This record gives sequence, structure tokens and C-alpha cells, in this order.
Amino acid sequence: MTRRIDILGAGLSGLSAATILSREGYDVHVYEIRADSGARFDGDFQGIENWTSDTDFFDEMREWGFDPEEFKATPFNIIDLIHPDDVITQPSTDKPAFRVVERGTDSHCIDQGFKRMAQAAGATIHYETRKALEECDIIAAGPKESSAIAFGEIFHTDHPNHVSFQLNDKLAPGAYSYLIIIDGIGLICTCLWRQQKKSSRYLNETIAWYEEHYELNRRPIKRVGGKGDFSLPDRYIHEGRYYVGEAGGLQDFMWGFGMRYAITSGVLAAHSIMERCDYEKEIRGRLVPLVRASAINRFLMNRVSNRGFKMVATHWVRDEKRHGDGLHFMKWVYQPGIFRRALWPVVKFAMLRRKQLKDGRMVSRMPFRKSLSRDVWEPSARAIEIGEEWKSIQRGGGQTSFAENEG
Ligand SMILES: Cc1cc2nc3c(=O)[nH]c(=O)nc-3n(C[C@H](O)[C@H](O)[C@H](O)COP(=O)(O)OP(=O)(O)OC[C@H]3O[C@@H](n4cnc5c(N)ncnc54)[C@H](O)[C@@H]3O)c2cc1C
Repeated sequence: MTRRIDILGAGLSGLSAATILSREGYDVHVYEIRADSGARFDGDFQGIENWTSDTDFFDEMREWGFDPEEFKATPFNIIDLIHPDDVITQPSTDKPAFRVVERGTDSHCIDQGFKRMAQAAGATIHYETRKALEECDIIAAGPKESSAIAFGEIFHTDHPNHVSFQLNDKLAPGAYSYLIIIDGIGLICTCLWRQQKKSSRYLNETIAWYEEHYELNRRPIKRVGGKGDFSLPDRYIHEGRYYVGEAGGLQDFMWGFGMRYAITSGVLAAHSIMERCDYEKEIRGRLVPLVRASAINRFLMNRVSNRGFKMVATHWVRDEKRHGDGLHFMKWVYQPGIFRRALWPVVKFAMLRRKQLKDGRMVSRMPFRKSLSRDVWEPSARAIEIGEEWKSIQRGGGQTSFAENEG
């Protein structure tokens, strides 16, 4: 008899599991609360990293049977690294350091590519449908709570394809901002790892900064955003249910690069159901050390301000000179080495809080940190103008897919 598998959430992790299981002949049903896959993101750009493993992630995806040609991806092997004192350096590497994909409901988006693969394999996706968690085998419903948020603006631009990554504790409290431009569409985003009353203040100031340093000729389209939930559960299978992706706390505490963990965990859950591996063991062996290393890095980043961020950027530059590879630093940062491992008990005690979730799981979670006195500053005249400009665009129908104080 064909075994039925019910999956909660048609995002990357849920659709990855659905594709593999359907191909194997399981009767797979995916329940998605939104109207379509990718609707949570509405057209923002995200980078799939290539530094947590020596294997190129697209090769890994091909080995699992996914076709990366199903969605648009733009590889980058060079970025502008913007130091907190506005110095710009350009770490580079030989192979793709990451690929930029679009999240959303347009057909070239990664979410739609994964949806097509799942449906072609035979999975049935039920959109705008609620399903009790207890009735599902795989929980792939993404983040529940907020430990951090990102807030961005999408715009038309004449600037060529480009990625900037900026470490700046003023514009992006505790975190970073970025500029991504792909084929005439730009995204400027600021990430807030400390909770703020008005996130748009940070976005306006960040946009003002990029406008001053790049020839953007920016014509705003919409504002987007989202939250990240950083928590480590005690177990990844709970009451017989597999927790994958961000629902399972498989997210990067340091900088939020969770897509690779989401797809990988979806695949591992499917393989475990097919009795090819033990999910709990695989997750603990492959992903938990990376997540822990990222949590330890986050703990360290939480202790520093722009002076510390400058040290990170300077170290990155020196590391590239020493090793002849700008990606070497990122690989090192994400490696769970002896020093980081030794710090783990301190991090667990000082940064994470024990919590029981509604579904009964115990997690150690990173609360959204409170704002600091240095987060309050006077906006620049240009940032105020940008805020006003956005308000008038909104009045004319400009969409914001993420409430300003959401999270
Ligand atoms: C603004 C922003 C920028 C990011 N940038 C990057 C980046 O550059 N690189 C990177 O690797 N990662 C990035 N991430 C993180 C990445 O998006 C996530 O880690 C990844 O999407 C997690 O995949 P998932 O399958 O767990 O969740 P999702 O892909 O979010 O899928 C979860 C799905 O479950 C649905 N759902 C939720 N609740 C229910 C319910 N009760 N019933 C049914 N369905 C439900 C949701 O609608 C959603 O479709 C970013 C996140 C944000 C918010």
C-alpha cells in the first residue's frame, strides 16, 4: 500500500522533502497557509551560500535529483565589503561564493522552481489550507517567533549586477546591510539584530548611505522584509514528526543564511522516512555543528560595536592576502573549531533561553535583543526625504509586504 505523507508548509524545506518522497512513490500532500509558495517573501533577493561545505551546493542539489535550472540564479565570486568606517574592499574567489536567487511567486523564483519539481514528482499541494500540526509527518512551516528582522526596498536601477555587504552597527544594529542588483532590479536591505521601534528609520538611512556611494538612479517599487527565528530544539524528531528548515531551528544565527540548511534538512527528512538514514543523527552530525558555530559567532558579534565590526572586516582582508582566497575567511568563520566549541557552554548559558513551545518541544532560543542607547540617533536630511518619498509612493499603491514593527 502507498504510504501517505503530510507536510506542513510549502517553502523550500517542505517542497524538497515532498519532491524526494513523491519520486519514491509516497502519496505526498503539502499544506500551505498562504496562496502560493514564496508568497512569504514577495520578490526579494537572497544568497545561497557556498561556504559551509567544500561541495558546491548546486552539485549537491543535482546529486539529490533537483534541477537548479528550474529557477533563476546569478553566481557571484566578488563583493564589495563595506567596513564600518566606509572603506570598501573587494574579497573575491575563483568559484561561485554564493548565488543570488529571487524569493516569491514569479515563475523564475526559487520557491516556484521547487514547487514545479514537487508537483512534477507527483506531490499534491493544498494552498490556503490549514492543517493541524498533529496530523502532519513533516513540519516545514518556517519561523514562528522573531529573533531578528530584515527590512528592505526593491527598486529599478541602471546599475549593473552587483552585491555589497556592509558591516555597520548604526545602520543595521548588531548586524549588516546589503545591496543586491540583478538585471536592473535592486534591493537594499538592513538587518536588525536588536529590536527597534521604527525599522523604516534604519532602512531610510541605509538607502541614503548607498545612494551616496553608488550611482543607483533608484526608482522604488516596493518594500519587503521578514523575520528569523533562532532556536535550537532538544530534538529534531518530536512525537514522530520531523522538524525541518527554520521550523526545526535550522537557521544561521550569525547572518541568517538559512536556505541551504532548509533544503538539506528537507532532503534528510525524506531520506530518513525512506529508511536511508537516521534524521536525528544526520542533522546532529551535519547541520547542528554549523548552527552552533553560527550561534557562537553571534554571541561574539553581540558583544562588539563598530570597532569590533572593523576588526572583523580587517581580518577578512588580511586573511584573503594570506590565503589568496576571499572565501577562505567565510569558510573559517563557519567552521566549528576547537575554540568555538569550548565557548558553547558559555553561549548557551548567556545568550539562549530555555522555552517550551506550544507543540511541546523544548528549545534553547535567542530572544530578540533589546535596543541600546546608541541605536537612537537623528536621521539625516536625505533619509527623511527618502521616508517621505516612500510614503507618497505608498499612497499611490506602493506595497509593503512586511509591517514596519512586525516581529
Ligand atoms: C528578509 C530575509 C532575508 C533572507 N536572506 C537570506 C539569504 O540571503 N540567504 C539565505 O540562505 N537565507 C536567507 N533568509 C533565510 C531563509 O529565507 C530561510 O531560512 C528559509 O526560507 C527557510 O526555509 P523554510 O522552508 O524553513 O521556510 P520557508 O521557506 O519560509 O517556508 C515555510 C512555509 O510555511 C508556510 N507556513 C507557515 N505557517 C504555516 C502553517 N501554520 N500552515 C501551513 N503553512 C505554513 C509559510 O507560508 C511558508 O511558505 C532570509 C530570510 C529573510 C526573512
